[in-house]
Amino acid sequence: MIAICCRCVRETTAPVAVRYIDRTSGPGVTLHACPDCAPHLIPGPLLWEIAPSQRG
Ligand SMILES: [Zn+2]
Repeated sequence: MIAICCRCVRETTAPVAVRYIDRTSGPGVTLHACPDCAPHLIPGPLLWEIAPSQRG
C-alpha cells in the first residue's frame, strides 16, 4: 500500500494511520504518515475510536 504522508507529503510504502477525518458529504478520510513522521504526530481519533456523537 502506498499513501501520502500528511506531514512530509511524501509517498510511503509503510503508512501509519494517524487520524480519521469524518466528512458530512461522503466517506471519511484516513490520514497516513510515514514511519518517520508518525512518532512526531499527535495521534488523532481513528475510525474505530470515534463513537457516533453530535458535535456542534
Ligand atoms: Zn512523513
